[in-house]
Amino acid sequence: MQEFFQSIPEIVFRILNFVILFGALGFLCRNMIKDMFQGRKNKIGEDISEAEEAKKKAVNLEKDIEAARAENEARKAEIMEGAERQVEINSRSIAEAGEAEAKSLIENAAKSEGQLREEMESRVSADAMRQVAAITGEVLRKGSFENSKQALNDRFIEQIKELVSAMPSDILNMNELKKLDISISSAEPLSEEEMKKLTQIICETFISCHNEVDSDLIGGVRMKVGDTVYDGTLAHQLDKLSQDVESNTRQSDAERLNIAEGIKQQLAKVSDDIDVFQTGSVVTLGDGICRVSGLADVMAGEMLEFPDGLKGMVQDLEKENVGVVLLGEYSHIQEGDPVRRTGRIIEVPVGEALIGRVVDAMGKPIDGKGPIKTESFRAIESPAPSVIDRKSVSVPLQTGLKAIDALVPIGRGQRELIIGDRQTGKTAIALDTIINQKGKDVICIYVAIGQKESTIANVVERLRKFGAMDYTIVVSANASEPAPMLYIAPYAGAAMGEYFMYQGKDVLIIYDDLSKQATAYREISLLLQRPPGREAYPGDVFYLHSRLLERAARLSDEAGGGSMTALPIIETQAGDISAYIPTNVISITDGQIFLETDLFHSGVRPAINVGLSVSRVGGAAQIGAMKQVAGRLRMDLAQYRELASFAQFGSDLDKATRDTLHRGARMTEILKQSQYAPMSAADQVIVIFAANEGYADDVELADIARFETEVIEYVNRNYPELHDEILGGKKLNADQQAKLKACIVDFKKTF
Ligand code: ATP
Ligand code: MG
Repeated sequence: MQEFFQSIPEIVFRILNFVILFGALGFLCRNMIKDMFQGRKNKIGEDISEAEEAKKKAVNLEKDIEAARAENEARKAEIMEGAERQVEINSRSIAEAGEAEAKSLIENAAKSEGQLREEMESRVSADAMRQVAAITGEVLRKGSFENSKQALNDRFIEQIKELVSAMPSDILNMNELKKLDISISSAEPLSEEEMKKLTQIICETFISCHNEVDSDLIGGVRMKVGDTVYDGTLAHQLDKLSQDVESNTRQSDAERLNIAEGIKQQLAKVSDDIDVFQTGSVVTLGDGICRVSGLADVMAGEMLEFPDGLKGMVQDLEKENVGVVLLGEYSHIQEGDPVRRTGRIIEVPVGEALIGRVVDAMGKPIDGKGPIKTESFRAIESPAPSVIDRKSVSVPLQTGLKAIDALVPIGRGQRELIIGDRQTGKTAIALDTIINQKGKDVICIYVAIGQKESTIANVVERLRKFGAMDYTIVVSANASEPAPMLYIAPYAGAAMGEYFMYQGKDVLIIYDDLSKQATAYREISLLLQRPPGREAYPGDVFYLHSRLLERAARLSDEAGGGSMTALPIIETQAGDISAYIPTNVISITDGQIFLETDLFHSGVRPAINVGLSVSRVGGAAQIGAMKQVAGRLRMDLAQYRELASFAQFGSDLDKATRDTLHRGARMTEILKQSQYAPMSAADQVIVIFAANEGYADDVELADIARFETEVIEYVNRNYPELHDEILGGKKLNADQQAKLKACIVDFKKTF
């Protein structure tokens, strides 16, 4: 019973709050009409007219949908009729084709209708919500809800007891200045009784405490202790409400079912708890970097909120202020603008919904296919898996390129660097690897850093054409975006990959390229006035790449068993792999694939320098048959390299030397491969085996490519079991080798 009496104020308070919100809704409709006739003097008027316009547009959209649907129906009917007629003429196949076309038309119509409707709903509901919030605020300001406002005050005083505390920065301030400023704002002057209670609560610790009246708060109390704000005002709740509708990527399907339902749900989310947060203000601003004072407790890498939803990331912690990089369009920011802490590290949306999409460094869609609906978010920076959580690489990640799969094999969970000058086919290797993952249950992430928008569009187009977008996410921070976006893009991609890795899935991530990320980071650092180091890069540029690449791993079964294979790309200047950034990344990764301009131009494509390329761990993951043939290949090529440069000058060569050169030239020819033509491991083994055994020695260099395709085709036709035997992972036994040899000998008779 006593408990019941104790909870009465609570119940009364909740009822009062509902009275406010529903009273507001009641007033809203009346005031909406009244305000319209009052000539819309203020900003609310403008908002309403904007919303009206949006609604009109929405009506037009709906008309468009109707028109599109009618048109599609008409076409469908036409085609169906045509199809029926065709059946009559006894041409069954044509009718089927017609039906298929009609079906795809219906599908397309449904898709475009869905898209239009989605667009309409998201726009109208956001506008409507903004309108509701603005008018509710106005109604509450004008109306007399004295009793309920009083309840808000009482509630604040009651709750603040548990919440108020001195933050580390406050303690520092108190130590230094011997005093801490506490300002209390409220819609109406607080009564003596209330002030007494409040001062009693806080004065034991803090010294000055005063009450300022601000009718804009509508109701409730806001207290500011140092930088920390304890906000229990209605104005703040309405603010949050309008902010929520802005971020409609965070809305799930259910929330956008219909507009009325949406508004109801949004209102239900408004809680009457006191919001505690810290604020600071912009001190200086320039080039996408700003300094913010008054955020003494902020974390490095924390996300900050600026006016109009702009996000920033804390990059530099100094005694007086913090350096913040702005993530997005920042022209509206001015000195003195308020900045709010979020207490969270920058995060991006993660999950299945991202697959097949193109997003920016913050995970926002940029492919025009509507919002991405995902419930999970992940901090872009997170610690790499520990040694205990890892296991060694043992499953191959097939690139489909002979030169790589045979000589520098990559295992799942490995980090293999692709390095070379500009225009040497670095991106081509990455894309072929993605295309080759089709049907192999690997989720691919392609992070494009500092590339032209048109280049990225081409890449996406290619991937789509080869059906690779079905399992690929493209994260793009293009050259025209501010440096901070280029800097965070790889981390964002890594976060998206980690989500799948910790679920036990295999992920391949490509960073194209990290030299541009390092340059962006150098730009940020110089703007933040950090001391420049070697080649003007800041001292921690090694950490920039090491903490990114360490996140690639093969997890132990206990930790989930997934893997993330990273293929970072680095661009060199004039083949100089001993420059600062290249040497850094070479030392971080488990090997490198070195591409050379000279090779590329002499027609050896992929232009892999076999001598300088290594894979330190991938050998353990190579399939048995490939390992068997690759040893011989590597040796032949090494001898060829050694003799080739020296033989340029000699004319009289002994037979052994001539044979080595002859074989080497054919091996080099065999390793050439055109773009977008990845090969299965079994096919690769067949050709390399044939060349190793000397069956290509009497083939003219110009005929090698034809020899290759035909021998593969012949063997696959006449010895079909071999394919699975090779992919089974075991070495080829004597019987299998003999059978394969016989098969190739037969083939040679026809070649
Ligand atoms: P950038 O430094 O501009 O990023 P890159 O090193 O990524 O260049 P790519 O864009 O992959 O190089 O390739 C450069 C050109 O070479 C492209 O036109 C590509 O089509 C072509 N190319 C790449 N690999 C091959 C190949 N194996 N066979 C034929 N052409 C190729
Ligand atoms: Mg490239």
